[in-house]
Amino acid sequence: MKIVKTVDEIRAIVKAWKKEGLSVGLVPTMGYLHEGHKSLIVRASKENDRVVVSDFVNPTQFGPNEDFESYPRDIDADAVLAQDAGASVIFNPEADEMYQDALTFIDMNKITKVLCGKTRPIHFSGVCTVVGKLFNIVAPDRAYFGQKDAQQLCVIKKMVKDLNFDIEIVGCPIIREEDGLAKSSRNTYLNKEERQAALCLSKSLCEGKKLIENGETSTEKVVNRIKGIIESEPLARIDYVEIVDWNNLEAIDTVKTPLLCAMAVYIGKTRLIDNFIME
Ligand code: AMP
Repeated sequence: MKIVKTVDEIRAIVKAWKKEGLSVGLVPTMGYLHEGHKSLIVRASKENDRVVVSDFVNPTQFGPNEDFESYPRDIDADAVLAQDAGASVIFNPEADEMYQDALTFIDMNKITKVLCGKTRPIHFSGVCTVVGKLFNIVAPDRAYFGQKDAQQLCVIKKMVKDLNFDIEIVGCPIIREEDGLAKSSRNTYLNKEERQAALCLSKSLCEGKKLIENGETSTEKVVNRIKGIIESEPLARIDYVEIVDWNNLEAIDTVKTPLLCAMAVYIGKTRLIDNFIME
């Protein structure tokens, strides 16, 4: 598996593929790849002739007190997983290859200010900027994002529409551990007790979903039920639990589809996210 470090080289590789008439899929990641990332790469390799996996811990999407420095990294293991999943190449630039005294950033209103945007005010500007740059560097036909980061998926779809990127955005389902915990590179931060406590995210979401399926129409009641389950876990601290319209991330009082029920919960010092979408 070739690991490409420069913008010029990845551009040359993609150009050569396009000359041959091959289609290109892009899977943007921050590395430390797991089965969740793998599902995106497998899907991309089914739907495209060639697949670029970007593997870049993007500094501009981390706040000053967040985990940029400690974020896990293992490019050799990533190369093995990406190859198994059907990737053609990994793009793994250093930060100064991506940013040299940059003055230009992509910013978005409204949907980046709610949910995770409240606690992470610069996060989505960093995400949009790096994804926009990756779209310009790789110029893929399709790009693959997990519903695990549902708000990110919504934001990227809107950015592509607003800025006329000629790229199809493909959303992929959440991959979970056998006991329900959504796979995440950040799960490696959890000790044994925290790993057990983290089950309150998926368990409470399951209960919330059941309530709706059984006819509950008040989003407040569903959210309160979910919060109650999480609050009974001593190692958990809620950042937010909300039910919003999946089209525009606006809060809704009454259950109506499509909806997104999303949460961020601290387990010890680790901030985990999870959600379900009802179409
Ligand atoms: P990350 O490396 O965490 O930035 O994630 C890169 C991409 O993989 C994003 O589109 C995520 O939504 C997606 N992803 C991460 N974890 C999962 C998961 N458990 N299931 C599905 N997709 C995931």
